[in-house]
Amino acid sequence: MVLGLVNRKGRLIALLLLAFCAGLACLGRSSSRSTSIPAKISRGRSICVEHRARSGDSYTLISRRWTSSGDNWRAIKRYNGNRRLLAGSVCRIPYNLLSPKAKYLVIVNLFPSDKYVGGQWSHKVTYKGETVSSIAKWFTGTSRNASKILSHNHLRGVLHLGSRVRIPSRLLLAVFRTSRARSSKPSGPLLRFKQDKKGRYASYRLKKGEALYTNVVARFTGRISHDDVMDAVKRIKMRSGIRDVKRIPEGFEVKIPVGLLLPRYLLKSDPRRSAYEASLKQLSRYRNVFLSRDLEGVYVILDPGHGGSDPGAIGRRGMREDEYAYDIACRIRRLLRSRTRAKVYMTTWDKKSGYRVRDSRWLRPDKNEVLLTTPRYHNRDATVSANLRCFLVASIYKSLPSSVRKDNRVVFTSVHADSLYPELSGATIYIPDAHLSRTSLDRKGGVYDRTKEVRSCRPIKTTYWQRVRSEGYSRYLSSELLDALKRRNVATLPYNPVRDRVTRGRREYVPAVIRHNPVPTKLLLEVANLQNSSDCQRLMSPDYRERIASAYVDALRRYYGRKSR
Ligand SMILES: [Zn+2]
Repeated sequence: MVLGLVNRKGRLIALLLLAFCAGLACLGRSSSRSTSIPAKISRGRSICVEHRARSGDSYTLISRRWTSSGDNWRAIKRYNGNRRLLAGSVCRIPYNLLSPKAKYLVIVNLFPSDKYVGGQWSHKVTYKGETVSSIAKWFTGTSRNASKILSHNHLRGVLHLGSRVRIPSRLLLAVFRTSRARSSKPSGPLLRFKQDKKGRYASYRLKKGEALYTNVVARFTGRISHDDVMDAVKRIKMRSGIRDVKRIPEGFEVKIPVGLLLPRYLLKSDPRRSAYEASLKQLSRYRNVFLSRDLEGVYVILDPGHGGSDPGAIGRRGMREDEYAYDIACRIRRLLRSRTRAKVYMTTWDKKSGYRVRDSRWLRPDKNEVLLTTPRYHNRDATVSANLRCFLVASIYKSLPSSVRKDNRVVFTSVHADSLYPELSGATIYIPDAHLSRTSLDRKGGVYDRTKEVRSCRPIKTTYWQRVRSEGYSRYLSSELLDALKRRNVATLPYNPVRDRVTRGRREYVPAVIRHNPVPTKLLLEVANLQNSSDCQRLMSPDYRERIASAYVDALRRYYGRKSR
């Protein structure tokens, strides 16, 4: 949620530290690209500090300054060919001898794009000749971790300049892990609450590079659809006296009307915030208790969004939501069937390609998908289709043994791609808010009367407590999914990627497929924003779609593989 901020702050603190250290050590000028730490990298592989000796310097003094112990002087002397130390000569200290703090400073100096983000170190391959083994040595202290880093990144071994290599927190040297603590320490409240003659507002000071649309509106108000973002920007603009949203100076006070804020950003004393926190606390009691190895005994119902006559959202290059959602669902199905013992149900089916995964960037639109009700439905009407999906899921759920339902061994997931404000990118996970989900779904006449699943399952009823339990379970799975997506380098919405409702205009609602269906653990995954060009680029990559599918399977494994806390 605050990742953007954490990075910037991390960088700032690193720079401050750097300046501090440089001042402290009064280090000489360096021949490398660094300005304050005389660090040097050669052949992309070996890093050392080049210390220019001054009169009075000794190997012991240098050892103390750079390695936090005087005892390394012999090793440093050997590294420098046992040369005598003369004023003005360069003394090299190899990276492995450096103190943790010096290691950290050398790294952020040589690799200014590196950052600690999402529970891992993200290293940008900056020099020709970098290898996974040298990266493992720098960040984890031993090249033996190279294979773990390779598999964590799904890499084969060749590194491309500009690509990123993620090093999970558990492997990192402590200093790279604690840089996270350093960077996420809050520097004061994010928002200050004030009052003027127009009423109460939250005051936010815009930071360098931040935009009103994303860094204020999407973050603090939760609005992400194009019209809602524009509407909120208009209100904030008027309230704050902003003339040109593109030219807001750094540090400008943005006034956000309190009514626009998400509950989590309100003051602790605000009833909306306390209601929100009380409900989170209540929900956290619902943890999955059924444990399973390889998902044995688990039933997964996958629902690829839209299809048939309904293409769903249409992306920037004419990409159709239904085709990409269907491909990802097929990939999840394939992984579950080949790598786990879970039983998989699909709600739709492509008459021509079946459940075959498509390894091309461009997924040609067709109208072959049908909803697997009896008789089949071609999605002529999107609302009818959503209702029919609920009845179809209800009938699958009803057909399962009662022990399966009792143990919470069924998971429902609908796969979609969104159409949001174009500057926003990444996946969003929707779960059903217990209070916003209606009590029953009943439909009569026409197609409903003709459909067997509707006749046998109507009305679909849930009690309030079932819905609370459902939100709790779904929230738990959604946090596993969010972590898994991040681990697989799948982009997620920067602010509030897990949402319990859709906000459109003044309306707030839970998407129909997860509102009415009776499965307790259910999610709607919006894999990307089809209005954002980077998201479209990513989604076109078959490898990216496979990573989304793998992340989903990882999340299920964790959901059913962990003891309840
Ligand atoms: Zn959709």
